[in-house]
Amino acid sequence: MTVGLLRMQIVTAAIKSEAAQEMRLSSLQLQILMDLLARHPVPQSTSLFVDRYAVARPTVSDSIATLAERRLVSKRSDKKDKRVVNVLLTAKGFRRATEMTDWANQLLESVTALPRAYQEALLSALIRIIGDFTARAIIGVDRMCVTCKHFDRNRRLGMPKAHYCKALKIALGDADLRLDCNTYEMGKKALKLLSMR
Ligand code: SF4
Repeated sequence: MTVGLLRMQIVTAAIKSEAAQEMRLSSLQLQILMDLLARHPVPQSTSLFVDRYAVARPTVSDSIATLAERRLVSKRSDKKDKRVVNVLLTAKGFRRATEMTDWANQLLESVTALPRAYQEALLSALIRIIGDFTARAIIGVDRMCVTCKHFDRNRRLGMPKAHYCKALKIALGDADLRLDCNTYEMGKKALKLLSMR
């Protein structure tokens, strides 16, 4: 198992670093571009990245400043609160970020070739691992069900979809749990983790 995980880590790191090296980007800068691409064209507050990556705010600000210098992102003040800085991909940033998703597509190709039951088991395992990493403050609190205040774990215990989302009013099985949900609101447990940093 350890060897398998290390092997996967080496493969993904190699694919990612190839893309990052080509554009001379750090891992954090690359991750920011990928997150902005996933939410494009909605501008994102810099706080999102601080929460997601469990890194200090100045580190995120430096990375965003570098991306802005390279004209990959643009920064603008929030209309409601001038102290909040929002970030958006430029046309150049969108083009380059889309090109870089090739590495993710290569992984996705292998995963979608798996039988359906394996895919569901893989998603379920990934969610549990990310949830555990979040609980141990190894990575930042994400917009995922297991740290969301609307998540009611095992409310329907014994049913095929045992969990429940109180905001969307839907039953959720392990394979339905979300990793990046627009309706997400941070739960108390997640807030506690943030205050420990
Ligand atoms: S709002 Fe989204 S993240 Fe929260 S429990 Fe419902 S589906 Fe999951």
